[in-house]
Amino acid sequence: MDFQLTAEQRMIQDSVRRMVSCDIQPILDAHNPDAPLPKEAMRQVLQFCSTQGLISARVPEAAGGAGLPTLVYGLMMEQLPPVVTLAVLGQEVTVTRIHFESTDEQRERFLPDLMAARKITCTGTTEPDVGSDPRAVKTRADADGDDYVLNGRKMWITNASICDVINVTSSVGKDERGLSRMMRIVVERDASPFEAHEIPTLGLRQGHLGEVVFENCRVPKANQLGQVGDAARILTLTWLANRPILGLCAVHMAEAALQAALKYAGDRVQFGRTIGSTQLVQEMLADISTAITTSRLLCYYALSCIDNGDRANQISAMAKRYAIANCQRAVSLAMEVHGAMGISRELGLERYYRDIRMLPIPDGTNQILTLIEGRELTGTQAYRV
Ligand SMILES: Cc1cc2nc3c(=O)[nH]c(=O)nc-3n(C[C@H](O)[C@H](O)[C@H](O)COP(=O)(O)OP(=O)(O)OC[C@H]3O[C@@H](n4cnc5c(N)ncnc54)[C@H](O)[C@@H]3O)c2cc1C
Repeated sequence: MDFQLTAEQRMIQDSVRRMVSCDIQPILDAHNPDAPLPKEAMRQVLQFCSTQGLISARVPEAAGGAGLPTLVYGLMMEQLPPVVTLAVLGQEVTVTRIHFESTDEQRERFLPDLMAARKITCTGTTEPDVGSDPRAVKTRADADGDDYVLNGRKMWITNASICDVINVTSSVGKDERGLSRMMRIVVERDASPFEAHEIPTLGLRQGHLGEVVFENCRVPKANQLGQVGDAARILTLTWLANRPILGLCAVHMAEAALQAALKYAGDRVQFGRTIGSTQLVQEMLADISTAITTSRLLCYYALSCIDNGDRANQISAMAKRYAIANCQRAVSLAMEVHGAMGISRELGLERYYRDIRMLPIPDGTNQILTLIEGRELTGTQAYRV
């Protein structure tokens, strides 16, 4: 067992950090922090990430992807600003799902533009009435000649309002248990126009979280991915790595908050001494640091279990739930170290406080992740009757 990163892993992290400071941060800084980036700006950000292999991380090299071990992918994603992590993950996971579900002809048709981020993409599963239980999707795909006709709404979809291509989870009817027979279909916006708009939210405001409406949207049957019924399996497989990666996004924010708190605690003088020399402020710093180290290690461990081919359902759910909850508290404690300055817009910690609050929801809420852990421990599934 070796708890140290290799020299190569550190170099890869440095390279992503350099890209962030030279190429990506200037784009974020040039735009309103409280409004979604213009599409061209986000496309540029994704294209920089593509040069590092972040958009095709889980596509094998033989198929033109970066073929990264998931641990390395996580180590890289940890270095990105949170709003970029979500946009990259939305794009990359869609690329991965299309790769694993498609025919050679479909891969050639869709993937080069998506992996290079010349086109922006997303996965639409959640709906106004369908969240944690994706097998209840209502968006209908009705066969009509050479097309499917899509009708329905998708909500809370990362990258939706700026996407060129959306991978839609739809229903082609019900099985004998009353669950949707799910099918994936790739909808190209130019050829099959649909409406999409932003939903204003608490955090990650430079990103895009939107609603999509399909009204008699005709999509060629040639865009159907895989077989009817495969969709749930591929969704679940990709969630396994997404969860610790979202945990590492929380670690990124808590780490930045710790660095700010350490500096402030060393500079700020009250009662004739630096606040960092008082026991209770040191306790807050120690708690923040403990949250970061335990969360980071758990997320790395979950990712390495996936690379080893172990059954990772429990550890992956545990990593996301633990890291986000503990890093959320860590960000809040770092604000507390700053007194009133902690809540100022000027300092920037309030932005992490809002951004991190977005993370417990996608790819499994805290309650669903808890129940996945429970299922793995007991063999009994408690979330579906
Ligand atoms: C930042 C962000 C990005 C997202 N990106 C995407 C995306 O790209 N594509 C996409 O399709 N969706 C996306 N989503 C949507 C996300 O996947 C859903 O919001 C999530 O699955 C939860 O669904 P819901 O919001 O409808 O909550 P619900 O499922 O309605 O849950 C409401 C509450 O009930 C609890 N609950 C539900 N069922 C149970 C149960 N059986 N036992 C105990 N508690 C339960 C939940 O934990 C929660 O607290 C995103 C959401 C966010 C916030």
